[in-house]
Amino acid sequence: MIFDEYTIKSLIRPVPDFPKPGVVFRDITPLYQSPRAMRMVADSLIQRYVESPVTHIGAIDARGFLLGAVLAYELNKPLVLFRKAGKLPADTLSESYTSEYGECHIEVQRDALHGGEQVLLLDDLIATGGTFLAAARLIKQLGAEVYEAAAIIDLPDLGGSRRMQDADIPTFTLCAFE
Ligand code: AMP
Repeated sequence: MIFDEYTIKSLIRPVPDFPKPGVVFRDITPLYQSPRAMRMVADSLIQRYVESPVTHIGAIDARGFLLGAVLAYELNKPLVLFRKAGKLPADTLSESYTSEYGECHIEVQRDALHGGEQVLLLDDLIATGGTFLAAARLIKQLGAEVYEAAAIIDLPDLGGSRRMQDADIPTFTLCAFE
């Protein structure tokens, strides 16, 4: 299916002052409720990575899980979950970071990745980049590498994609809201 940015953007609803005053929340639930739009998103990402050296899909809690599951299934790769603190059992590594909403922690299981593996990280949106950068630090601690960090939306005014570029983490997004 041909990717149509206008359709994708029209299905992302701005919700002012959620979850706290001053934040414009980009609500992707209308997009997830459109099978046609979701197919555009999934097909674009599948096409981009189908011939890449990606060995693992890393999905970020929680909306990244939905994209991650689709990509892991279609590309036939293992799915690694990056979860909010306290959700993953067994031996985990943790990283803290500051997001638009405050201090957060993200965790991964220690046996999920190994040296030489190439991870495609997925989330719905890049704001300050704190979440992706924390996940990237966990990947590095496990000896693996971020092949690319991909999201549906970039909010360039919040500087996340720039911070990731500065940290040598390649990013890919399907649309942006200035
Ligand atoms: P950041 O770590 O600042 O790049 O924030 C990205 C993460 O927080 C993603 O998991 C998003 O789902 C969520 N997020 C941050 N800001 C927004 C926003 N304005 N609208 C929707 N989700 C957001």
